[in-house]
Amino acid sequence: MLTPPLWLDPLPQPRPALRGPLAVDVVVLGAGLCGASAALHLVQEGLRVAVVESRAGAMAASGRNAGFILQGTAERYSRARALMGHERARRVHAWSVENHVRMAEAITKLGISCEYQRRGSLQIGAGPEEEAELLESARMMVEDGFEAEVRQGEALHERYRARGNTVALYLPGDGEVHPARLVRGLLDAAERGGAQIFEGCPATALDASTAGDVRVTTPEGEITAEVAVVALNARVSDLLPYFRDKVDPVRGQMLATAPLPPLFECPIYANHGYDYWRQDPAGRIVLGGWRNLDPEAEVGHAETLHAQIQARMTEFVQSWVPDQTVEITHRWSGIMGFSRDGLPLVGPAPGTPGAVVGAGFTGHGFGFAFLAGAALARLILDGQHPFCDDLSPHRMR
Ligand SMILES: Cc1cc2nc3c(=O)[nH]c(=O)nc-3n(C[C@H](O)[C@H](O)[C@H](O)COP(=O)(O)OP(=O)(O)OC[C@H]3O[C@@H](n4cnc5c(N)ncnc54)[C@H](O)[C@@H]3O)c2cc1C
Repeated sequence: MLTPPLWLDPLPQPRPALRGPLAVDVVVLGAGLCGASAALHLVQEGLRVAVVESRAGAMAASGRNAGFILQGTAERYSRARALMGHERARRVHAWSVENHVRMAEAITKLGISCEYQRRGSLQIGAGPEEEAELLESARMMVEDGFEAEVRQGEALHERYRARGNTVALYLPGDGEVHPARLVRGLLDAAERGGAQIFEGCPATALDASTAGDVRVTTPEGEITAEVAVVALNARVSDLLPYFRDKVDPVRGQMLATAPLPPLFECPIYANHGYDYWRQDPAGRIVLGGWRNLDPEAEVGHAETLHAQIQARMTEFVQSWVPDQTVEITHRWSGIMGFSRDGLPLVGPAPGTPGAVVGAGFTGHGFGFAFLAGAALARLILDGQHPFCDDLSPHRMR
């Protein structure tokens, strides 16, 4: 049965919506990780900022995910290098490492209580081909200056060897977090810094055709601003039609169990990233994925359950605890924004001079979106940021 996401139980009470006209320097559309980070970095520079969110902060992907903070893109590093080229893959990977460092600094500095831990991640292959890819990735990551350790033989825990795994890749720099608390903590900090945050307040129209004269319409008020930050994830094309054939909505299934004794030492990312799970500090297994069982069905904007995928996920989680019946307390889904080349789209919005955009994080937003928000703030203030040069939406024509 569908429940609220573990991280949003109980569901947060939205802040009041906008009523009447408002003039600010920057209007941020969307209060997920990307929008929250942009708003925070902009108020820290003394700008007048309004955030417009149709639901409540972190109620979409940013509060529905597994809370993994992984380095890199959805591709293993060896494949990333083959697809993007060596230098570009290295740069993109390095951005995700920087994203984590800066996010961790912000959590500490702002005192956000969000169960942040840095225990690394374990990348497990689904067979000999993927295990070879993991070995190759380890070699290439070390060559490029990233931390990566091969775990095989005795160094790979018996619980994985018993299932036929022979090789895993341990990435000590990775982490995990209570995602909704992190994002809502960033929003609270932005609000304390002066941002005006409107929730239950959809942006129904955006006119950003003229730089310096941007208008956002909401049901009961209009905002004028110099510039808009569009951080709508899978919904980006609702207000920026340019992205209609560039960002696709893809559903991910999730479940969480009642607390169990310690089983997993860190987040596990398996089967080319299709399957992923971890134990939160209370001992709950939080598990997601198995989308490859029915990829055609797992598209669109509906946050619904897929019965067969959920059943397979339940069987899998049960298989780790054969002596007792595992209680599943939460089942939910969320919508990811997949870009057509698997990389985030962050920078000026093509054909819309008054808007910048952060979208298309392709299931890895906690590896990029905090830095994306910071980079968009610098883009607005300085006209440039190298992260936006590397991941500019202009690359897709
Ligand atoms: C099931 C699942 C598991 C995942 N697991 C992980 C993981 O473990 N690690 C990881 O790195 N990533 C993971 N991801 C991806 C990650 O959650 C996203 O990449 C990231 O949260 C994107 O952040 P965002 O701010 O771009 O988007 P969102 O969090 O989706 O924020 C966009 C916001 O825009 C709002 N909005 C939409 N339309 C309008 C409108 N017209 N007006 C106003 N507001 C609007 C939405 O309500 C939403 O709050 C997962 C995603 C899902 C769905």
